[in-house]
Amino acid sequence: MTISTDLHDLTVTELADALRQREVSSVEAAQHFLSRAKTHAHLGAFLGTNEEVTLAQARVADARLAAGTAGPLEGVPMAHKDIFVTREFATTAGSKMLEGYRSPFDATVVSRLADAGVVTLGKLNCDEFAMGSANENSAYGPVKNPWDLTRTPGGSSGGSAAAVAARLTPAATGTDTGGSIREPASFCGITGIKPTYGRASRYGMVAFASSLDQAGPMARSAQDCALLLSAMCGPDPDRDSTSLDVPAEDFTRHLDDAIDGLRIGVPAEFFGEGLSDDVRAAVDAALKQYETLGAKLVPISLPRTELSIPVYYIIAPAEASSNLSRFDGVKFGHRAKDFKDLTGMYEQTRAEGFGDEVKRRIMIGTYVLSHGYYDAYYLQAQKIRRMIADDFQQAFKACDVIAGPVAPTVAWALGGHGNDPLADYLADIFTLPASLAGLPCMSLPVGFGTGSMPVGMQLMGNHLTEARLLNVARSFQQATDWHTQRPQGI
Ligand code: GLN
Repeated sequence: MTISTDLHDLTVTELADALRQREVSSVEAAQHFLSRAKTHAHLGAFLGTNEEVTLAQARVADARLAAGTAGPLEGVPMAHKDIFVTREFATTAGSKMLEGYRSPFDATVVSRLADAGVVTLGKLNCDEFAMGSANENSAYGPVKNPWDLTRTPGGSSGGSAAAVAARLTPAATGTDTGGSIREPASFCGITGIKPTYGRASRYGMVAFASSLDQAGPMARSAQDCALLLSAMCGPDPDRDSTSLDVPAEDFTRHLDDAIDGLRIGVPAEFFGEGLSDDVRAAVDAALKQYETLGAKLVPISLPRTELSIPVYYIIAPAEASSNLSRFDGVKFGHRAKDFKDLTGMYEQTRAEGFGDEVKRRIMIGTYVLSHGYYDAYYLQAQKIRRMIADDFQQAFKACDVIAGPVAPTVAWALGGHGNDPLADYLADIFTLPASLAGLPCMSLPVGFGTGSMPVGMQLMGNHLTEARLLNVARSFQQATDWHTQRPQGI
């Protein structure tokens, strides 16, 4: 290798260039990151690696680089949240139910990234079936935040965020149903984007709440996210009926556009009671920075922000209870050993295979969908969901993007919420509205708060404005260096 920096310090963009210039080989890069994953195993970020498979992919990438047939991400190693099914690595979705499960196919997002040249390093820990905000619901143990090992990395894409922050991989995939890309990105000081609902195919993403689930990249910069998102998105009509009929886009195209005159909407409801002072200070400072870059701040209102919590925690469990009915001991994964009859087999299998939070959601979901309660809960929630989406459309009449905090606090201590699921649910207040409205949204690091923990700012845009969001984030990252900070000892 002729480049002087450590390989793990390179961004995706830099590493892709170095590979193209043949300054480093894909095999070297893969070996480097695989060995870092081993020396940082205490973080609990990786659930599975397979050196043989990774190195075989890297050799193919090197051959393509040599032959001049390389894709835009040729040879770049990357790891996937263990909610994307993969043919060559087991997929657990963080659940005992799927322990050792091997899919006969790759998720569309995984195969699109592979087509662009990505080499897979392995699978990353996550909350069971992506249900959680702290990665403490994984059947394979919690993930530690590289900035402070006693704290949560956030969830449910906690393994993805921790691995990127600790430089165990240049980037990772994540999924976001109600905040699972943005919140862990914020807690670990990295950048992540959830595109418009329907932009990335859900085919091969183990389903949690199908009307909300979206895939997106998690990396260290908006520039890297733009490059990765370009490879991940695009229609998949034969496999995901909700995939949008919008052509794949090069999200790097507008990265360096000027942002003067940009109208940033600042929703009053995101800065009220409950927002901790340290997060408020960091987000306020970032908004000031945007003003010096030529943007205008516009006060706006998203009046139903608070309602997004009850609405989401009715709709998501309702969909989850239906999606998870497939785990019955017959078709996938775990099957109980001792049972009397067929019903007993179902019951025992599900009692053994699912963790507490998943069971709680199945029960809530079944309840709100049941005859007699459907109108009172599920139908009401759907109506308010529409109103929340309408509020955004109202707001976008006065602004181009909306900015606010990602979470009310910095990452809390592992175990800090005890056995109180509500404490976790409430922390989702700022990420749920954009999810319910299907809007693109992202998190970027804007400073540090209590305990020197990273603070993320959220940017939300109207449908299909990913390129604009990434441009707005990139302008900030060109002017500041929060996104280049690293945890101590990393
Ligand atoms: N924290 C939310 C939940 O537990 C969001 C999870 C997600 O986006 N996957 O449902």
